[in-house]
Amino acid sequence: MAQPSRIDAVRAVMRERNLDALLVTNRDNVGWLSGFTGSSGFVVVTGDRAIFATDSRYTEQAKTQCPGFDLTKLATSAPEEVTTLLADLKAANIGFEADHLTVRMHEVYRAALPPQIAFTPTTGIVDTLRLVKDAGEIRLIEEAVALADRTFDHILPSLAPGAVERDIMLEMEWFMRKKGADVAFDTIVASGPRSALPHGRAADRVLQTGDFVTLDFGARLQGYCSDITRTVVLGEPTAEQRKVYGTVLAALEKALVAVRPGASGKDVDAIARDYINEAGYGDYFGHGLGHSLGRAVHDGPGFSVRSELTLAEGMVLTLEPGIYIPGWGGVRIEHDIVVENNGTRILDISPIDLIAR
Ligand code: ZN
Ligand code: ZN
Repeated sequence: MAQPSRIDAVRAVMRERNLDALLVTNRDNVGWLSGFTGSSGFVVVTGDRAIFATDSRYTEQAKTQCPGFDLTKLATSAPEEVTTLLADLKAANIGFEADHLTVRMHEVYRAALPPQIAFTPTTGIVDTLRLVKDAGEIRLIEEAVALADRTFDHILPSLAPGAVERDIMLEMEWFMRKKGADVAFDTIVASGPRSALPHGRAADRVLQTGDFVTLDFGARLQGYCSDITRTVVLGEPTAEQRKVYGTVLAALEKALVAVRPGASGKDVDAIARDYINEAGYGDYFGHGLGHSLGRAVHDGPGFSVRSELTLAEGMVLTLEPGIYIPGWGGVRIEHDIVVENNGTRILDISPIDLIAR
């Protein structure tokens, strides 16, 4: 579906930055602007045109998915064709996405464009607009989160001593795919001492009594992602396991209360981080507290020590504090949240109190 308001929003930023045209090549940005779901195509926005260019493999699809765009069929997608298209715009200053265009392609385009045309690196134009989701996007994310919740329900009975991490991962991914989704990222299943690896890919380890088992997973459904984490314990938790789990849970809950429009990503991060520090586990929480979520799993900035994000209504983010003690194990709990008018709404409903199995 054409997104005229999104194109207009891009034009407003282009005017601020004195750009006559913007070449959009990041696939998520292309999809957000145009509705295109294929893997090869780009958008050029000018003051009065929105161009979608792709090759013959995708022109029929683009006709259906991108009404309202001037469709340009590229014979080969060769760089010369792209530079001809750009040069023909008669634009004095063409922006490109510096986070996405390769150095090699930049060299090719620059060399082929007439020297009087400025070819200007830009960052964060479409990406920043994408941070605030509209109601339709939030609905799609809710559906992707609901599927993650169902996946957790589905896998919970299989979490028992004797099960193999890789089998659990495969069962979770099979379940999501069976429901029409792709996996948003490689499913993390990390048990026992491996749960101290924040991004422990599923391995051949056999689950044992006493293990923490961390599952971090998400679905990409209708183009939008979910990303949740739960940690369960096998058998009766020890006092230390309860303490670590309780600390992560309390850090999550303290951060949640601070999420509202106008709050800073850095401050919310600090609330969880300070709490974990004061509990004595500060050395064991190394990553940021969360990230934006949307068409991409890491859809933009979020909560971290260096975050410059100011929260606004409609942003969708993760909150995911963790404690990882090498050789012992770790805990992470991850919510997907929407920033709303007067606070926050949690999208995932899987239990967060410690589940002992
Ligand atoms: Zn995650
Ligand atoms: Zn995450």
